[in-house]
Amino acid sequence: MTSNKTNPIIILGSGTWGLSTALHLVNEGYSNITVFDRASEIPSRYSAGYDINKIVRPEYEDPFYTDLALQAIKGWKTPLFGPYFHKTGYVVATSGRAPQKAITHLNEALASIKDHPVFKSHITPLNKPQDFKDLFWQFRGPVTGFSGYLNRFAGYAHSSNAMKGVHHHLAGRGVKFVLGPQHGKVTELLYETSGARRCTGIRTANGAVHNAPLIVSCLGAYQAELIPDVGKFSVAKCWSVAHVQLTDEECDLLRGIPVINVRDLGFFFEPDPATKLLKLCPLGAGYINTNSKNGVSLPPLDNLPPPQDYIPAEDEAKLRRLLRETLPWLADRPFVDQKMCWFADTSDSEFCVDFVPDTSKSLIVLSGDSGHGFKMMPIVGSWVLDLLKNGRQERKQWQFKQPVGSNIKGWGDSVSWRIGTTKEIKEVIQERDRMLKARL
Ligand SMILES: Cc1cc2nc3c(=O)[nH]c(=O)nc-3n(C[C@H](O)[C@H](O)[C@H](O)COP(=O)(O)OP(=O)(O)OC[C@H]3O[C@@H](n4cnc5c(N)ncnc54)[C@H](O)[C@@H]3O)c2cc1C
Repeated sequence: MTSNKTNPIIILGSGTWGLSTALHLVNEGYSNITVFDRASEIPSRYSAGYDINKIVRPEYEDPFYTDLALQAIKGWKTPLFGPYFHKTGYVVATSGRAPQKAITHLNEALASIKDHPVFKSHITPLNKPQDFKDLFWQFRGPVTGFSGYLNRFAGYAHSSNAMKGVHHHLAGRGVKFVLGPQHGKVTELLYETSGARRCTGIRTANGAVHNAPLIVSCLGAYQAELIPDVGKFSVAKCWSVAHVQLTDEECDLLRGIPVINVRDLGFFFEPDPATKLLKLCPLGAGYINTNSKNGVSLPPLDNLPPPQDYIPAEDEAKLRRLLRETLPWLADRPFVDQKMCWFADTSDSEFCVDFVPDTSKSLIVLSGDSGHGFKMMPIVGSWVLDLLKNGRQERKQWQFKQPVGSNIKGWGDSVSWRIGTTKEIKEVIQERDRMLKARL
């Protein structure tokens, strides 16, 4: 079908990867694209990118991903994406109490870029706490035992605004968007099984059927709801997000600081000037929601994934320590807009961009963003074009994987940049309920 660019193409999900797919298809001349999303507006509150900022950094231990991130950063500098990219610099550090895994990861990330022709001149080692204080004159905390480096080639992007901007751009170029819990929420993929099996369309929550010879599914953490086999190599996982509300003066004070990522604690960004929120994320292996019957982890499937306005005590402790070490006057301030943010994780942190087996190349799945896929937004759709051109996924690691068994607990824990062990979200909910009870 791809030879005829007027044939309908359906994209499921208007998150960061779905929008990028629509963008590259429309740039390639495809003229009949419809994107479906369960949310009533873009950015979708179900998207992992529904956030004020995400790190855009090029360092990866695998040079393949470093090259991709470099291409993506080029994309972030174009007129469409440029307004959302802030090249503030990116500090990677460990605290004096960091476990060896965090130190090893930092050294490997640094090794991947320190002699790289593009980065070499952008890297500054930060060997001791005073180096951090010299760089961040706003840091009044002790930064005990901190060491690491600054990469001035990186920064962050405003993820919600980027999605909003790309949506607006696409709508102006004729891409259709069908949004909302009735018209936009996809409940079923439809298959023709007489002869070679193929996916022929979708059904939405209002019962409507939409047909297309090519469907590209970009449902992030929710993917296994519609393509259950994805749940055998990818888990829905969540991490905590919290914010500190700043005053106008505090926001001005912290303007322009690099992203700081302390591998054993967490990271924060320069404050968002519109909301004056300082966003913080703890680093850890995350939480999953395994269905004991089928072993598949999906986000809790109610309207909004609970728990909201709460993060686990261990995550809060990491963030408070991070603040105490850096911006101590904020360390005891209540967190606002706390949430658990869901993404699709794989055991090796590799993406999946492939045709779903046994669908006669009618169904493509993009999954396994593994919590580092936002930065790739400018280029994700080019991988779909490559797949359509080549007729197969040539990178083995990105192929649709065969089931690896039902024991998904611990997935992703061995990935070098994850410190800790994956836990079940129900343990978090129980902990929250215990705390609430104790307060009564
Ligand atoms: C806390 C946190 C921090 C992160 N930090 C970074 C970072 O610093 N840098 C980075 O590069 N990446 C980061 N990521 C990862 C990044 O957000 C994801 O890789 C990226 O958003 C994945 O995009 P996606 O399109 O696959 O999924 P999503 O953006 O989640 O999009 C999925 C879409 O599918 C829609 N949908 C779901 N079910 C249905 C349905 N049944 N019908 C219709 N639509 C549906 C949703 O509404 C949503 O719009 C982070 C993730 C988290 C959770």
